[in-house]
Amino acid sequence: MALIYCRECGKQISDNAVACPHCGCTLVKPVVVDPNKSDKDWLTCVLLSFFLGALGIHSFYVGKTAIGIVQILTLGGCGIWQLIDFIMIVCGSYRDADGKLIINK
Ligand SMILES: [Zn+2]
Repeated sequence: MALIYCRECGKQISDNAVACPHCGCTLVKPVVVDPNKSDKDWLTCVLLSFFLGALGIHSFYVGKTAIGIVQILTLGGCGIWQLIDFIMIVCGSYRDADGKLIINK
């Protein structure tokens, strides 16, 4: 449980409250986290795949260790694999080790 602040009166309230106990306003529910969305940072992935993609660093970053090792051994599939991964990441269709999409938040 985390603490958030009421939009109306600015007082601290619990994040599972449905109404503010201080001013009585109805609380807007926090944005529900998409279960299909990765918590990995999209921009970090873009930069890692661009600069260090030949070493599979972006694969390690998203938890795909086995793929990362293969990419090191093949130098990012001679650059082709690196390029494909980079394009997929930029387009928001790249998935992490849990199969969740890494997209620009
Ligand atoms: Zn309030």
